[in-house]
Amino acid sequence: MLITNVRPWGGPLAEIAVEDGRITAITELKSEVDIAGAVDGRGRLALPAFSDVHCHLDSTRIGLPFRPHTGSPGIWPMVMNDRENWRDAEWTVAERATHTLGRMIAQGTTRVRSYAQIDADCGLERFEGVLAAKETHRDRCEVEVIAFPQAGLLREPGVPELIDEALASGAAVVGGIDPCTLDRDPVRHLDVLFGLADKHQVPVDVHLHEPGELGVFSVDLILERTRALGMTGQVTISHAYALGSVSESTTRRLVEEFAELDVSMATVAPAQNGSLPLTELTAAGVRVGLGQDGQRDYWSPYGNADMLDRTWQLAFTNRFREDELIEHCLAVASRGGASILDRDLPRLASVSDRPGLAVGDQADILLVDGDTPTAAVMDRGRDRTVLHNGRVVAEGCELLDK
Ligand SMILES: [Zn+2]
Repeated sequence: MLITNVRPWGGPLAEIAVEDGRITAITELKSEVDIAGAVDGRGRLALPAFSDVHCHLDSTRIGLPFRPHTGSPGIWPMVMNDRENWRDAEWTVAERATHTLGRMIAQGTTRVRSYAQIDADCGLERFEGVLAAKETHRDRCEVEVIAFPQAGLLREPGVPELIDEALASGAAVVGGIDPCTLDRDPVRHLDVLFGLADKHQVPVDVHLHEPGELGVFSVDLILERTRALGMTGQVTISHAYALGSVSESTTRRLVEEFAELDVSMATVAPAQNGSLPLTELTAAGVRVGLGQDGQRDYWSPYGNADMLDRTWQLAFTNRFREDELIEHCLAVASRGGASILDRDLPRLASVSDRPGLAVGDQADILLVDGDTPTAAVMDRGRDRTVLHNGRVVAEGCELLDK
């Protein structure tokens, strides 16, 4: 199978050969060629397809009528607002998750790690909805589902048992959340969480919204358990809005320990100041991935299932202007995230590393119009072709039937 007339990472015109879902050759072209049966790139850029490593497919309302935001600030009030409203959605969780995942794939995402909320109110209903979406799109996208105690592990009875059940029935990752501020018992929260991870031999992903030194306190407890259980390369910290707002020496120590234990970071490119510096994380060898978080849900009206849009937001919130740094955001949004889901993939070597389109790589490719990769981030054109495992799964931001 051939993809002709493309410019990998904005380089010279080339032809990409694919066999058994992997890139087997990349050959430079002198001019555009017309080959029957090939995917014609028409001179567009070829980029590695996106990996969304932090989204909440169980809460999305993309595709449904816009509804005014009714939540009040703070995690618990937001959880309660969601709890009061999600059952009134016009579609089931499975229908909403399937639609949104389809929109994500259609716009260039072929690897996803999604949370599925599990709590005393919804039980496994939302988790099962996300599993249904994964099943529907199994030939178009790889999906990992996180069993996620959004309302805490300890505040309401029976939650660890439900998470345990989900991990035995299709969840690939166990999630934790704000061990200090939500459950107010960080040691017990993390002992239950890492106990479940150890029992099921699955990775851990912790939502951390805690401020400054309190967040550092939780992170140190996470690092302690990562070491004790030999879970190097098995832990991701999501958000961590405030870990860059503490002293420089503490930030440096955390970045070094993340690199040493291969603890990865998932960011959703928030507006807040104080996040750990992206370029320093990469330079230190910490895997960083990007995600869209909740998308047009009961938590937030933002998100549109387009990771190219979120890549723009990552560049914008980092105040990047140089092409190298904006292209680095593309590398984070694609192979950075993929390397969190598949630890056999190497970490990004530097801010100028542009992996994902070499011989041997899985042929998950986005073709998109743009003079350069940076221009594509700025313009976010709609003339896109999405390939997963060397097969075209979407054209012009619409899914192909099969
Ligand atoms: Zn989130």
